[in-house]
Amino acid sequence: MSDAGLPRRTQVAIIGAGPSGLLLGQLLARAGVDAVIIERQSPDYVLGRIRAGVLEQGTVELLEHAGVATRLHAEGLVHDGVELAFDGRRHRIDFADLIGRHVTVYGQTEVTRDLMNARAALGAPTVYEASEVSLHDLDTDSPRVGWRDAGGRHELACDWVAGCDGYHGVSRASIPASVLRTYERVYPFGWLGVLCDTPPVSPELIYANHPRGFALCSMRSTTRSRYYVQCGLDQKVEDWSDERFFDELRARLDERAAAALVTGPSIEKSIAPLRSFVAEPMRHGRLLLAGDAAHIVPPTGAKGLNLAASDVRYLSRALVAHYRGEGSAGLDGYSARCLARVWKAVRFSWWFTTLMHRFPDTGDFGQKIQEAELGYLVGSRAAATALAENYVGLPFDD
Ligand SMILES: Cc1cc2nc3c(=O)[nH]c(=O)nc-3n(C[C@H](O)[C@H](O)[C@H](O)COP(=O)(O)OP(=O)(O)OC[C@H]3O[C@@H](n4cnc5c(N)ncnc54)[C@H](O)[C@@H]3O)c2cc1C
Repeated sequence: MSDAGLPRRTQVAIIGAGPSGLLLGQLLARAGVDAVIIERQSPDYVLGRIRAGVLEQGTVELLEHAGVATRLHAEGLVHDGVELAFDGRRHRIDFADLIGRHVTVYGQTEVTRDLMNARAALGAPTVYEASEVSLHDLDTDSPRVGWRDAGGRHELACDWVAGCDGYHGVSRASIPASVLRTYERVYPFGWLGVLCDTPPVSPELIYANHPRGFALCSMRSTTRSRYYVQCGLDQKVEDWSDERFFDELRARLDERAAAALVTGPSIEKSIAPLRSFVAEPMRHGRLLLAGDAAHIVPPTGAKGLNLAASDVRYLSRALVAHYRGEGSAGLDGYSARCLARVWKAVRFSWWFTTLMHRFPDTGDFGQKIQEAELGYLVGSRAAATALAENYVGLPFDD
């Protein structure tokens, strides 16, 4: 054991204690594979980040398999559809009728809390507030992870490094530029989001395409709402009082929703830029990337957290098979398998973002095309089915 009370060697070193890292740690621990998680922030900081809230059915099944779905089933809200609002009217996309599936509304913060509690109950090691995390010898069979914390400098030897440290982490940055190929689209707007303890305006999510810009009425529970409005990239949160935000949101909703909107003091307010990003490959030597470390999608399709879970599903199975002596095919094929599913979600998120937002540069022609597509979508069962299939999550390839 090291002076930090940690083993000096583990099977899998997981970088990052976001949803990817924690879920991977939980699935490995339940299968008897040792892992240490090394996280840059404190637990409270990690829990304080307000992010995703819509879980695909496949994500819920994975959380069940990980043994962390009790509270999710007690408190999560099952949604059988979403509403699209445009031209002053709302149109429901009925998942249950179209494809017999649903999504569950349960906040990323709560998923993270459940995973943290499960990890603590197992007594599995996590290092928080680790700075200067560095990865070494990734192209050998004995990679190492170094970091600094209040106790000084530490090093951990391992068989595999799982890079679950998000877009700004050290893992992807440790892959030589000559091997890594990246694909990116940056959108010319962001989302201004507000979280408040008020009942949601409607039982299901409303995605609104309005001449003033996109708006989304979402929620985390029956008493906590999450609202967004499309905003310029030059906007500053300080310039948006709660009153100004809710006036803008109301102006983008249909009359019925605007009248039903209950407002209250914001408990969080932030602006997020929108971006699509994919890094290939997702494996380099003994380093395996998962989640936001490898790809980012604009939040319109609610795919970010779900894609992270889908990577972790493939990765945990591959690692467990490897340690059970069932071969390394899962690890060898990990990158290609993930990317096939990732690109489909990237395409859907790009398409839904393009359909629902007002773009400053597409002109009248672009606007007319958007209106035609919205009309087609709500008038054609085939088109609505395609949206439903992608929104609730495409099937896994096994
Ligand atoms: C502002 C914002 C809003 C979002 N809203 C939505 C949404 O509404 N819907 C949706 O589906 N998705 C949303 N997402 C995306 C979703 O939250 C992510 O896809 C999801 O968090 C991915 O999980 P992850 O574990 O891969 O990465 P992260 O959640 O980013 O976790 C990575 C972890 O690694 C840690 N870390 C970073 N660098 C290091 C380092 N060098 N060493 C050690 N640890 C490190 C970080 O502190 C973090 O805890 C949002 C993302 C952001 C940023």
